[in-house]
Amino acid sequence: MTAKSMMPYVEGNSAIRAMFEEGARMAKEFGKENVYDFSLGNPSVPAPAEVNEAIRAILDEEDSLVIHGYNQSNSGYEDVRQTVAEHLNRLHGTSFTAKNILMTVGAAGGLNVAMKTLLDPGDEVLAFAPYFVEYGNYAANHGAVLRAVPADPPAFQPNLAALEEMIGEKTRAVIINSPNNPTGVVYSEETLKKLAEILERKSEEIGHPIFIISDEPYRELAYDGVNVPYVTKIYPNTVVGYSWSKSLSLPGERIGYLVFPCEMDDFENAITAANIAGRVLGFVNAPTLMQRVAARCIECTTDIEAYDRNRRALYEGLIEAGYECAKPEGAFYLFVKSPLEDDREFCARAKEHHILIVPGRSFACPGYVRLAYCVDYDTIIRSLPHFRALLGEIRG
Ligand code: PLP
Repeated sequence: MTAKSMMPYVEGNSAIRAMFEEGARMAKEFGKENVYDFSLGNPSVPAPAEVNEAIRAILDEEDSLVIHGYNQSNSGYEDVRQTVAEHLNRLHGTSFTAKNILMTVGAAGGLNVAMKTLLDPGDEVLAFAPYFVEYGNYAANHGAVLRAVPADPPAFQPNLAALEEMIGEKTRAVIINSPNNPTGVVYSEETLKKLAEILERKSEEIGHPIFIISDEPYRELAYDGVNVPYVTKIYPNTVVGYSWSKSLSLPGERIGYLVFPCEMDDFENAITAANIAGRVLGFVNAPTLMQRVAARCIECTTDIEAYDRNRRALYEGLIEAGYECAKPEGAFYLFVKSPLEDDREFCARAKEHHILIVPGRSFACPGYVRLAYCVDYDTIIRSLPHFRALLGEIRG
């Protein structure tokens, strides 16, 4: 019999599947071009040509037993980790070496390794709403509890006053995600410094360190020259999780890394525990061929201009139509105020106009909806009259 603990996930999954199936059914009935699907955060820009070239070259040039073999260290290839460290040092003026880097099975695998390393059962993890809903599931994997720090609309910067009140003896970590899914908000250096100041003070007060887990799969997707500060430089008790899922459009290849700075509390034990955590969790090591590919393509990024064009077209189109929304500075999402009190009802009404979007309550923030603009530019342009008609209909 299936574990009882899995049944809430099974029930939740049928809602996701229903949405998937509905999208496919609508595309069949009305034609793909007449369905405006903004529901998924799946990159719409193909991986850079360098990725496929790197795969071919590696297969031709390198020893098959090595590139398809187990890694000597579960943390990943030493030279790949050194390449990642030097890349970060060039960009951020840090002084990492291979020792600080652990290759992971995407950001999701990395977050689970980080949590296995840092959390004991009963510990609490705080996350600023709205947040990527899987965080709660990941914390539960390790017997920890995720608590949502209330959102601070309309700007959706982290609600530091609420965070401070919520920190207690059980608090072990705070997850941050900038550029953010689902709001597109980027946290400024000033905000992060204030967060660090609170965490330092509270760590002292409760007698153990509170770690930041900085989830950064959208780091490169930042627009208008906005600065995305490197969090370890502001708060050393930070573990950074990165993946190439979005920046190289490789979500199916499951490749990313964690950064453990030397300055963090109990560094030597933490890095050893993380190395073992990947094995204990059954990942063993990150996909070996993809580690090599990531290292060869370390300077590459996706076509950010394409996402930026989508961002501007959708944001400007929706504002012009009368919707309310904070202008996103990063990632590929817009978090729009639901014109109906019930965000689920608004999503249902949108579907009548062939628009597929996700209710904010899926990100612990009811009253809003998320639009993923990683779609064809034409889909955005064609969708705008339908968004206008939808709002007109609601307002009567
Ligand atoms: N974190 C956030 C905020 C995400 O949006 C996603 C995926 O959409 C992930 C983590 C998981 O990324 P990956 O596919 O690299 O595991």
